[in-house]
Amino acid sequence: MVVVRYAPSPTGQLHLGNARPAILNWLFARREGGAFVLRLDDTDTARSTEEFALGIEADLAWLGIVPDRKARQSDRFAFYDAARDRLIAEGRLYPCYETPDELDRKRKRARALGRPPIYDRAALELTEEDKARLEAEGRKPHWRFKLDGRPVHFEDLIKGPQTVNTASMSDPVLIREDGSYLYTLPSVVDDIDMGITHVIRGEDHVSNTGTQIEIFEALNGAVPVFAHHNLLTDAEGQGFSKRLGSLSLAQLREEGYEALAVAIAASVTGTSLPVEPYDSLEAIAEKLDFTMISHGSARFDPGELAGLNARILHQTAFETVKDRLAGYGVTDPAIWYALRENIAKLPEIAELNRIFAPDLEPIIADEDREFIARARDLLPAEPWDETVWGTWTNALKAETGRKGKQLFMPLRLALTGRADGPELKTILPLLGRKVSLARLS
Ligand code: GLU
Repeated sequence: MVVVRYAPSPTGQLHLGNARPAILNWLFARREGGAFVLRLDDTDTARSTEEFALGIEADLAWLGIVPDRKARQSDRFAFYDAARDRLIAEGRLYPCYETPDELDRKRKRARALGRPPIYDRAALELTEEDKARLEAEGRKPHWRFKLDGRPVHFEDLIKGPQTVNTASMSDPVLIREDGSYLYTLPSVVDDIDMGITHVIRGEDHVSNTGTQIEIFEALNGAVPVFAHHNLLTDAEGQGFSKRLGSLSLAQLREEGYEALAVAIAASVTGTSLPVEPYDSLEAIAEKLDFTMISHGSARFDPGELAGLNARILHQTAFETVKDRLAGYGVTDPAIWYALRENIAKLPEIAELNRIFAPDLEPIIADEDREFIARARDLLPAEPWDETVWGTWTNALKAETGRKGKQLFMPLRLALTGRADGPELKTILPLLGRKVSLARLS
């Protein structure tokens, strides 16, 4: 059975950029009938907060993602400690005592000599006495993973065959001086323990994957299948930063965007599928195959999101938005169907719904008073349907000689109190004769 995980760090809000892997994982799980694990990578206890953790869950729920399982790395330190001890015992994890300054000098020297600035593994030469002396000086070790130095090959579900040459990489630090874990080791330990079959994440992790495959193997774990997706960028090609508050999901939600529009923009952008309305995440899951994800960047266009949002609303059924509409005072399905074509974001319905407010002020210009009085007299008798507008305005045209805008605009202003809006042939029967008469008076 397919098991995927989405593993954000609760050190900031979700934004479009990091919503992308969440949705792509979810779509893959739906497509394959698999399970989706939400794993909070919160080993950085200083920067992780409960507020961000709750925010992430709320944002995912808003998008329609309900994890099958949840886990927090901060509950799982015992597993990481066990893996650490095993790697130390097997000589794959070794203590290093260089300070950041010393490492910096080593890198500079390597560059000056025209060599790649790779860690020289000097710490592997330290004797037990050397280590004891360094620790007596008050130094604390950080721990590096000893890479095999052979090319790591893997078949990426999106990018095809990949090779990461770990010989050109420094042995990665897995544990800091203060004993805290970097993301690399806990992630592998959890992926093994949780039976993760597919790791779907941004292509900024490709070189980590080389390291992590070696760690999977060192821990005798099953190596998952990897899929590295292109990253969402803005129009200038800049990535979305976690710290950048703009375009956070919370903000998009607040601005009245539809979750589905945001989910489509975050997942379908940068694929060969068109960024257009889909009925649901399931509908995207049916169409989106990972081979369709482009190898270039995924440029997000705010205008495209706005247009998509409007198109989705224009075909949204009353039942789908019923509860939210009630908050804007719209409870009649007929009013929703009359107004939906004229909004780009749902909250705009409040303003448009003023058309039906009992206290609406009709707008009647002095030079139109006589015309409006004639219109009032010619208003047909009820029952009204969508033909009443045509019957009425034809009679009015014949009688006054007005046509086009001269004919329609004064009626629109008087009946709706605004110069634009939905078609009057739909609005008129919804207003009814009594209200229409009053507004034309
Ligand atoms: N916490 C990591 C991140 O946010 C997870 C990466 C991964 O999916 O392995 O980048």
